[in-house]
Amino acid sequence: MTGNSNLNLVAARGGWIGVDLDGTLAEYGTWRGVGHIGAPVPAMLARVKRWRAAGVEVRIFTARAGDAECLPAIQEWCQTHVGEVLPVTATKDYQMVELWDDRAVQVLANTGQRADGQEDML
Ligand SMILES: [Mg+2]
Repeated sequence: MTGNSNLNLVAARGGWIGVDLDGTLAEYGTWRGVGHIGAPVPAMLARVKRWRAAGVEVRIFTARAGDAECLPAIQEWCQTHVGEVLPVTATKDYQMVELWDDRAVQVLANTGQRADGQEDML
């Protein structure tokens, strides 16, 4: 996806971009409890803000979504750093057009081949 025209297309079609929290949008080292979320990762935060300014829906895509106790801290973190509360989910749907995640391994569509060129561990 390059340029705002594509982003506008995503927005117009009702698409959304999923952004992982720990290790992607926020710094993560070790689990410190539901109330702790790390400092923003500047490059990722800037990207999310650009997308939002272009009208693209961004959802925080995190395993924390499965724990209702985690939601207040995520919402507060978003309000403080993103400037708005973003939806929180751990569920894909047909409108999800991209997923940004520090643990994801991208594969080239329909090939089973890694996009990063790394060797598999096993
Ligand atoms: Mg992560």
